[in-house]
Amino acid sequence: MKKYDQYSNCRIIGSSIKSAGEILKPLLKNEQELLDAIGSIKSEAELKAWYPMDTILALMELAEKNDFVERMAKSGALNVVRLMRQKGQVHTPEQALKTIEMGFKYQHQGNVGQLSVEIESPTAATVVDSTYGPCGYLSGMIELTIANYGAVNISMTHFSNNCRQHGAPACKYSYSWEESSLLKLRMSEED
Ligand SMILES: [Zn+2]
Repeated sequence: MKKYDQYSNCRIIGSSIKSAGEILKPLLKNEQELLDAIGSIKSEAELKAWYPMDTILALMELAEKNDFVERMAKSGALNVVRLMRQKGQVHTPEQALKTIEMGFKYQHQGNVGQLSVEIESPTAATVVDSTYGPCGYLSGMIELTIANYGAVNISMTHFSNNCRQHGAPACKYSYSWEESSLLKLRMSEED
């Protein structure tokens, strides 16, 4: 798989391959090689082990070809929110954004590109994505995740001159949102 050469020194954690595989199940019926690779990740140790990138890259390609990017983003966001709830240290959209950035780092080894989040204010952030995932994947996941942490009226700006699909080295997204009054109430109860 020559086109994947650029990631030959990179690794991804087993659980990430596993969850992408689960979302893309409907597309995998005739993809025995991918099914085998995903199926081999089962035990707790395997979920935490490091794997070459070819399986996840093939899954991303499949998602992009079949208009599954939005669905991937949705279920990626659900996973992120579930993990954050377990850890219990995230309460606001900005904390959620920082956790996504960190989480991406922990799930990979080597230069898989960068996901960087700059918090501009409590209700605005800029995200730069030069990772292997297609445009719309991480950005969609981010949007849905912050919505789960009380961001409402989210607006996302993504200009084509800042998009990898139009030849830019990275996709740059600007988000702004409002805090829901519900969130403010919850926060004040916790204080
Ligand atoms: Zn883009």
